[in-house]
Amino acid sequence: MVSTVYYGSPRQARWDAQETLPAKLDRIIERLNIRERVKGETVAIKIHSGNNMGYSTLHPVFVRRVVQAVLDGGGSPFITDVSWDTHNAHERGYSQEVLGCPVYPSAGINDRYEYVHKRPYKSIQEWHVAGMVQDASFLINFAHVKGHPACGFGAAIKNLALGCMTGVTRSAMHDVMHYDPYWFREQCPDRQTFERILASCPMKALVEDKKIRGDIHMHFEMCNQCGRCLQAAPSGSLKIQPENFYSFQEACAISASITLSTFEPGKVTHLALATQITPLCDCFGFTSMPILPDAGVFGSDDIVALETAILDQTAGLRLIEENLPTSMEVHTRVGHPFAWLHGSLKDPYLTGVYGEQIGMGSRQYELVDVFPLEQIFTGGMQYISAK
Ligand code: SF4
Repeated sequence: MVSTVYYGSPRQARWDAQETLPAKLDRIIERLNIRERVKGETVAIKIHSGNNMGYSTLHPVFVRRVVQAVLDGGGSPFITDVSWDTHNAHERGYSQEVLGCPVYPSAGINDRYEYVHKRPYKSIQEWHVAGMVQDASFLINFAHVKGHPACGFGAAIKNLALGCMTGVTRSAMHDVMHYDPYWFREQCPDRQTFERILASCPMKALVEDKKIRGDIHMHFEMCNQCGRCLQAAPSGSLKIQPENFYSFQEACAISASITLSTFEPGKVTHLALATQITPLCDCFGFTSMPILPDAGVFGSDDIVALETAILDQTAGLRLIEENLPTSMEVHTRVGHPFAWLHGSLKDPYLTGVYGEQIGMGSRQYELVDVFPLEQIFTGGMQYISAK
């Protein structure tokens, strides 16, 4: 199956508002027939509102246009995100006055309004879907594209996977990276060697387990798989292996698919804005310098196709290494720039691969540019110097 992904380039030919991203988002909203589809629907618009002093999340100008389209179409919209992000979202411009509809915590003010779905995956037995999301009859999943320390990048799938579950499931999803054993203490001869292994990691990803002295706890989010620790560790004592890293992405695909399964066919659509692409997730509560140029705005009814198209559009962009936090390093230049940043075992395409395997969508897509860039100056002019 080939899915359609609508795309608006961040570049413009003329000094004209109609060629800029908010206007291109309007065209994508039209192509997805959002107005026609939401009449009489209760529409959850899931965004990541960030927290603290982050300012690189979706600009309210974009969110307002989606809200207005839903209102124009006769739907009843609300903005939603996890409670710890919505409680001060107004400080970052996400308020009813600005956006035109209420902003609700997805699982209530105490993060306890939820529906439980049983589906075993490694250490996770059940998934707690946020009640306000499941109660809606239509979902607009509007994501901001950025890097992510656990899975390389975050966009539409992650916006649902983490953002539509309550805290207990979000924690379990991060913990699943520890399900497959990676530390084998019987292969470590003494305390001195143990401490040398911990000290070998420049990212401080290796710490002593809080409960069991002599065990290693790895912060997978901080590990870029540089391999330094493997030089310090006796053979077989420590493993840097794909299954630990991949499990978070597989859990993301499962989680998003469970949320999507609560909506009737045709009652979900996905939008994503790739501007101010920072190295880390919007959860961090601050904004770092952009590490990729802006890549545009995207929309599709197929979440897997959308993610694949975003990654393909950003794959060839230059990683702006001079903008990285100096605590980060690029030690591989294989694969997507997000993998350069977070390590090759955090291949950003993987979540979509898992998503396709469980029937969430197709990685085959047709990209439809809603406002193809007009090439005005083609370079063939005779040069005339300015006076
Ligand atoms: S691979 Fe590198 S970043 Fe990861 S734990 Fe080992 S030393 Fe730290």
